[in-house]
Amino acid sequence: MEIREKIKSTGLKATPQRRAIYGVMKELCHCSIDEVITRIRGEHPDVTISTVYRVMDSFCEAGLLAKFTNGTGKTIYDVTPQAHHHIQTSNDEYLDISDRQLSDLVRRRVLPQIPDGEVIDKILIQVTTKQKAEA
Ligand SMILES: [Zn+2]
Repeated sequence: MEIREKIKSTGLKATPQRRAIYGVMKELCHCSIDEVITRIRGEHPDVTISTVYRVMDSFCEAGLLAKFTNGTGKTIYDVTPQAHHHIQTSNDEYLDISDRQLSDLVRRRVLPQIPDGEVIDKILIQVTTKQKAEA
C-alpha cells in the first residue's frame, strides 16, 4: 500500500509532513524518535521537532506504528504495529519474529499467574544477542 493510502486508511489526513515521517519509518523500520528527527530535519528543515513528536504519537494512537521500550529503557518506534517479537543484535538492529505459537505458549504458561481482575494486554518477547567470542 502506498504511503498516502496507508495513512488515509487510519482516518488521518495524509499531510506532506505525515507522508515524510511515515516514509522515514518505512525505511528505518525500528528507530528512536531522535533518528526520525535527524532524518526529517535533514530532508525537510521546515518540519519542527514538536511536529515530529505529535505525528509519531498520532500514528501510534491510530495503530499505524507501535512503540516499545528496549533493554536500555529507550523508546523504539516500530513500523509493524501487529503483535510480534524482536531479536535485538549487538549492533542495535531489531529483527522481527512473527511466531504465533510462541505467543500462545507464553500466554498458556503465564495465564495462571495473572492476578485476579487483570488480563494480558500485550506479549512482547525481546531476545538480545551479542557477538560470538573469537575461537
Ligand atoms: Zn518490530
